Amino acid sequence: MSGLPTDLEIARAARIRPIDEIAAAAGINPEALERYGRYKAKIDPAALLASAPHGKVVLVSAMSPTPAGEGKSTTTVGLGDSLARAGHRVMIALREPSLGPVLGMKGGATGGGYSQVLPMDEINLHFTGDFHAITSANNALMALVDNHIFQGNELNIDPRRMTFKRVLDMNDRALREVVIGLGGPAQGVPRQDGFDITVASEIMAVFCLSTDLADLRGRLGRITFGYTYDRSPVTVADLGVQGALTLLLKEAIKPNLVQTIAGTPALVHGGPFANIAHGCNSLIATQMARRLADIVVTEAGFGADLGAEKFMNIKARSGGLAPSAVVVVATVRALKMQGGVAKDQLIVPDAAALEAGVENLRRHVRNVEKFGVTPVVAINRFSSDSADELEWLLAWCAAEGVQAAVADVWGRGGGGDGGDDLAALVAKVVAGPNSFRHLYALELPVEEKIRTIAQEIYGADGVEFSVPALKRLADIKRNGWSNLPVCMAKTQYSFTDDASRLGAPKGFTIHVRDLLPKTGAGFIVALTGAVMTMPGLPAAPAAMRMDVDDAGNPVGLT
Ligand code: ADP
Repeated sequence: MSGLPTDLEIARAARIRPIDEIAAAAGINPEALERYGRYKAKIDPAALLASAPHGKVVLVSAMSPTPAGEGKSTTTVGLGDSLARAGHRVMIALREPSLGPVLGMKGGATGGGYSQVLPMDEINLHFTGDFHAITSANNALMALVDNHIFQGNELNIDPRRMTFKRVLDMNDRALREVVIGLGGPAQGVPRQDGFDITVASEIMAVFCLSTDLADLRGRLGRITFGYTYDRSPVTVADLGVQGALTLLLKEAIKPNLVQTIAGTPALVHGGPFANIAHGCNSLIATQMARRLADIVVTEAGFGADLGAEKFMNIKARSGGLAPSAVVVVATVRALKMQGGVAKDQLIVPDAAALEAGVENLRRHVRNVEKFGVTPVVAINRFSSDSADELEWLLAWCAAEGVQAAVADVWGRGGGGDGGDDLAALVAKVVAGPNSFRHLYALELPVEEKIRTIAQEIYGADGVEFSVPALKRLADIKRNGWSNLPVCMAKTQYSFTDDASRLGAPKGFTIHVRDLLPKTGAGFIVALTGAVMTMPGLPAAPAAMRMDVDDAGNPVGLT
């Protein structure tokens, strides 16, 4: 329509180098390299353990997302390329895409424009099979549980109190609620079940928070999949299958090496949901990147109220990480939407809406400072942005005392000069002092941890717990899970739990509907509002535009 090349066209026209060259330039021992075709490889973490992780971590987060798109992955890739162009040893660490959004509405997750990871189509489709392995481990657990019940149910599992479901890496609303075990005594014990999308599986979260195989086995064993008839939690270790699940994941747990359009090495590994999980790539990949590079650029899902908060309070705690800088991606379009402009009016300059919407950015930036980390605002430039709007935003940041740069890594690429200003600011912050701290101590009661996040990060007056949530709090205390961190499941569109309240609302309460203990991942999910763990497809799914030509080239991937 616009005459501009699509992400797929740009990716296919890019020069892609054999993965051995990328690995050699990154200093990866050839013996650690397990090739998957010419352009992808798994890296054996065991072969790199001799060196300690030293690289500084730059976390890319964002203002509250809008359907206009903020470009976190694009900025992550572009910033990595720009830092490499400036002479730093850089590694990018991203999440793996899920087929649900690829075939559905959002499209892929390999960045955009001239800031993408390659091979774009393979990463967005089956890649190296990690999601297959995670799906299989999840479903093996469920098959083993149902078999245990069928064979006499020695553990006294109550089939009505299962908290784990089967999974599939697909948006398939028809599978949300199912009944299994029908057909008579030989077919199993009938019970109500359902499917989640693979990225919502606790096994995905466990996979992404584990430090090594032993930790993976330990966490898998601690997963609570249901309760007994007398309401005691039943774990994978009670069933004795943590070894089998670890075995199913032993290859998948090795990070995947790919490259950006500019040839910067990138580890793309793991991909948990950012609502009922923590929304970050695997800790093993981040730590591997820190062994290989001086600066690691990574990303957390949704806005800084969700992804960055969880990175700081969950992932950083599991891995002993401390981010050295947080990049907050903002766009003029999204700020205008936060200021009340409709999606189809965003190309019209609107100074008043920009000024109103910037309150959203202010709250995110101040929140990052509460963790003792310096924020840098990346203004992701869209071609429809006016020079006046960009200048106004830069001046606003300067007046607020916040470092900011306009980045055109989508249009000009980080390998070009599109991210030079941003990279220079980030490099300066990374080299400076850092007094990272978590927002709360683990010893605080769960309800106080939730209150702290709601008040400090969202700006809420307080928190209201439903009757079921209060009951669950009592269970959590009784079962000895009070010291786990909290993983908030809240709409990404608003600081409140109401997606329609944009900007930086004040005078609101956060409503906690239920609490889900994820004892393997090691956090308590606090559900506010409805959370979709098996999304549906839209009326016109992206799949309708996809094909493959006679030469085997992909068509229509976005
Ligand atoms: P996020 O990680 O925040 O979800 P992505 O980086 O995946 O966002 O980008 C979402 C979509 O927006 C992609 O299709 C990408 O090509 C597009 N996009 C990102 N930045 C720009 C930009 N500056 N101009 C035009 N399109 C962009």
